[in-house]
Amino acid sequence: MILVVNAGSSSIKFRLFNDSDIKNPIDILDGLAERITVDGAVSFKYEGNKYEYSVDLPNHEVAIKFILEKLIELNIISNVDDINAVGFRVVHGGTISKSSIIDEKVFATIKDAVKLAPLHNPGAITAIEAVKKVMPKAKMVACFDTAYHQTLAEEQYLYATPYSWYTEHGVRKYGFHGISYQYIAEKMAEVLNKPKDKLNLIVCHLGNGASITCIKNGKSFDTTMGLTPLAGVMMGTRSGDIDPSIIEYMCKQLNADVSKITNILNKESGLLGLSGKSSDMRDVTGGYFSGDKDYQRALNKYTQVAADYIVRFANLLGHDIDGLVFTAGVGENSIYTRQLIIEKLPLLDLKLDQTKNEESYGEYKYISTAESKIKVLAVRTNEELMICKDTLNLIK
Ligand code: ADP
Repeated sequence: MILVVNAGSSSIKFRLFNDSDIKNPIDILDGLAERITVDGAVSFKYEGNKYEYSVDLPNHEVAIKFILEKLIELNIISNVDDINAVGFRVVHGGTISKSSIIDEKVFATIKDAVKLAPLHNPGAITAIEAVKKVMPKAKMVACFDTAYHQTLAEEQYLYATPYSWYTEHGVRKYGFHGISYQYIAEKMAEVLNKPKDKLNLIVCHLGNGASITCIKNGKSFDTTMGLTPLAGVMMGTRSGDIDPSIIEYMCKQLNADVSKITNILNKESGLLGLSGKSSDMRDVTGGYFSGDKDYQRALNKYTQVAADYIVRFANLLGHDIDGLVFTAGVGENSIYTRQLIIEKLPLLDLKLDQTKNEESYGEYKYISTAESKIKVLAVRTNEELMICKDTLNLIK
C-alpha cells in the first residue's frame, strides 16, 4: 500500500491507496489528524464508516504513530511494513522539476525552500522527519506544487526587478498547484483523446487558494501565482496581485511592520477582505443572489480578475485552445462562479450550457454548448492520486 500525506503545521491529511493494480491504484481510506500541538483529533473514512478519535497529539510523530496503530487495530494493515512507500505533498521545491525520492539532497532543498514558503514547507518537513522515525523501512517520495511550472520560459518567470535578485536570491515566479495541473492535463488528454504533449488548455484551479495556468503542449507555459502563493487571482483570504507600494503605504498608515501587512494580505483579504464577512464561496454566492452588497462587491472583483487572466492566457495560446477547465472546490462545485466568469469573457465567444452547468456529475462534465468556440469543462482534481502514481513510478 501507499500512504499519501499532505501535512500542514498543525494538521495531516492522509490517504491510503491499495497498489495491487499498479496502473489503477484505489484509495481505500481518507483521513485527517488535526489540532496537532493544540490538543488533537483524528478521523478517517473507511469502507463507508467514519472513525473519530479525540487524542492528545503533541507533535506529528505521535499523530503518525496513532494513525498506524488504528490501521493495525482495525485490520486495515497487518503491520507497518504493509505500507511500501509514503508520498508527501510539498508546496515548495525550489527549482526541482519533478517528483523525487527523498534523499539527503532533496531534503536539504525542501528545507532551503522554507524561506520561500514559510507557511507551507515546515509542515511537510516535520511530517517527513516523523515518518522516517516511525516507518524506517518505507520509501519516501516528495511531490512538489512548484515542479510542474519549471517549464516556464524566462520572460514568464522573471520579474522586472534587478537581475541579481534572481541569480543571487532566487526571486522568480515558481507557480503552485502543479500537482493538480499535472493531474488535470493527464485527465484532459484522456477526455479529449489527444496526446498530452499536444494539449493547449487554460485551467482554473479555484479552491481556498486559487490560481490559473496556461498549459501549452501539455506543459505549464504561464501561471498566476509567483514567488509565493500570494500572487495572481483573488482568493478566499489572499489578495492576489496588488500594487507593491501598498505594503509600505499601509505599514505607515497602520503603524505596522511588513509581516503584519503580509499576514493581512494572506489571511484577511480576498473574498473575506472585500466582503468583510466570509471567505467561503457558498456564503459569497448565496449572498450575491440575495442582493447582499458586500458579497456582490467581493464576487464581482473575484470573477473579473479570473476573467482577465483567462483572456491573457488565451492570447498566449492563440487560436488553438483545446479547453477551458474549472477545478478544485470552487471550480468543481460553484455553478454561479463559473457562470459569472464566463459572462465576463465576451472576446472568447464561449457559450455556456446552463443545464449542463447545473447538472451533477462524476469525474468531469462539459458545461459549454456545441456552438462554443472553446470547450468548457468542470473536472474534479485528484492531487492525492497524482502523488500516489508518482510515488509508485519512482519506487518501481
Ligand atoms: P483548498 O484550497 O483548501 O484545498 P478547496 O479546493 O477544498 O480548498 O476549496 C474550498 C472552497 O470551495 C471553499 O471556498 C468552498 O466554499 C468552495 N466550495 C466547496 N463546495 C462548494 C459548493 N458546492 N458550491 C460552491 N462552493 C463550494
